[in-house]
Amino acid sequence: MVAEPVHSENTVKIQNFINNQFVAPEQNQWLDVYEPATAEIYASLAASTTADVDAACAAASKAAPAWAALAPAARAKYLYKLSAAIKDRFDEFAIAESKDNGKPINNSRTIDIPRSIDNLRFYAAAAEHFASESHAGSSGVINFTLRQPLGVVVCISPWNFPLHLLSWKIAPALAAGNTVVAKPSEVTPNTANLLAECCQQVGFPPGVINFVHGQGAEAGAALVNHPLVKAVSFTGSTATGRVIARQMAEQFKKYSLEMGGKNPSIVFADCDLDKAIEGITRAAFSNQGQVCLCGSRILVEQSIYPQVRAALVANAKALVIGDPQDPATQQGALVSSEHQQKVLDYIQLAQTEGGTLLCGGKAVQLPGRCQNGWFVEPTLIEGLNQDCRTNQEEIFGPVATIQPFTDEAEALKLANQTDYGLACSIWSRDLDRCQRMAHKIEAGIIWVNSWMERRDLRTPFGGVKQSGVGREGGFEAMRFFTETKNVCIKYQA
Ligand code: NAD
Repeated sequence: MVAEPVHSENTVKIQNFINNQFVAPEQNQWLDVYEPATAEIYASLAASTTADVDAACAAASKAAPAWAALAPAARAKYLYKLSAAIKDRFDEFAIAESKDNGKPINNSRTIDIPRSIDNLRFYAAAAEHFASESHAGSSGVINFTLRQPLGVVVCISPWNFPLHLLSWKIAPALAAGNTVVAKPSEVTPNTANLLAECCQQVGFPPGVINFVHGQGAEAGAALVNHPLVKAVSFTGSTATGRVIARQMAEQFKKYSLEMGGKNPSIVFADCDLDKAIEGITRAAFSNQGQVCLCGSRILVEQSIYPQVRAALVANAKALVIGDPQDPATQQGALVSSEHQQKVLDYIQLAQTEGGTLLCGGKAVQLPGRCQNGWFVEPTLIEGLNQDCRTNQEEIFGPVATIQPFTDEAEALKLANQTDYGLACSIWSRDLDRCQRMAHKIEAGIIWVNSWMERRDLRTPFGGVKQSGVGREGGFEAMRFFTETKNVCIKYQA
């Protein structure tokens, strides 16, 4: 029998934010929002429908011409202020993100919230630095390129880095002169709501930035198909990306898709072993393995395989699983009960497919406040071939497989033998080899002797194959959020 969900004492209401006002959804329907560490419902979320989407898109459309006409420096000021407003409430944001997602507070303090602040600052500066080309031709002719805002754009984000990935889209969209309707994940809407409060405080012109909450299949789909929407920037699963791509193609709208991954960490025998083991442990289990960039397939050169396997098992067992709000915790809760079950099902499947559990494999019951939370042990599996589902499908939990390889050619073959192509880390002191591999690996992001190095926000970010279409980051995002027009002028030479 499934237990009745428990409501926490002070359930908060998360409303939509349209035209600078917090508003209840038209149909007055609400979704439950859970704290993953306790399994308690702590918020009610607006379950938006077409009527709410219509209102948000109309507001954004009305605001678009004036926002586009503002000088880039004036738009930048709003973004700098928004960045500062998050910084002023840093602790509140960090605690909210950890509570909403189940991630260790140490992660939200050092990754999620600082990066969100940086995203907004970076694109405030980018607004002023974004420039376009001109082409002086034969005498009497000059061509120049206009990059004009699109109008109303939609930003759809997932639950694993709720504020970070939302701000990573909103910031370039606004900087480039568009108005935005944002659709945060319904699983983790908490910090988006705080961000809306900051937008109100900063005093954006009404309609420039709007938040519509609710189910993807309802609110998200209504946004994607709305006639006033010119482009969609999406981060989430490949399955959802495929649905959105079909609908966007039908309407000839612009889209950018950041989707799933099944990323290899490749360890050669000549690497700095201590650094490699630290890196591949982080790559496998950070954020409970709920990072699109996670290295969930660990490929190790045969001669050092036993050593790497033993060290990884020791590291995985040493990770501290605990209350996400405790600064000592290294592994928090998985985001939902369904997701925990999905991860446990994959661990079961791996064994059915012939894999051997080297460590982990079970749900964890913590004492006290978190006794009902959705925790899973960091899990390492060996003995599987590359074709099996465990090595092909994105698990998105604290689960990694380990496989030996004999030489560079085999490492490359195993690395590329997947439908995904997001990221890869290569560990070797032979930089010629690393260069060769980097050229041949089918992925959008390659790390050499590192993993998830603190992002240089100027660099392109995205995947190939079923991991993505288009690139975010730097001016790539500014280009996505603008339409390019060539103007050819003939003059009297
Ligand atoms: P998801 O696809 O279930 O949901 C993502 C967002 O899309 C949510 O806001 C959801 O409400 C919305 N949505 C769902 N159906 C929709 C529809 N039909 N139309 C419009 N919007 C819809 O993904 P998730 O479970 O929230 O996130 C986990 C996934 O995200 C993983 O696959 C992970 O790899 C991926 N991810 C990718 C990146 C990247 O940069 N490549 C980064 C983070 C996460």
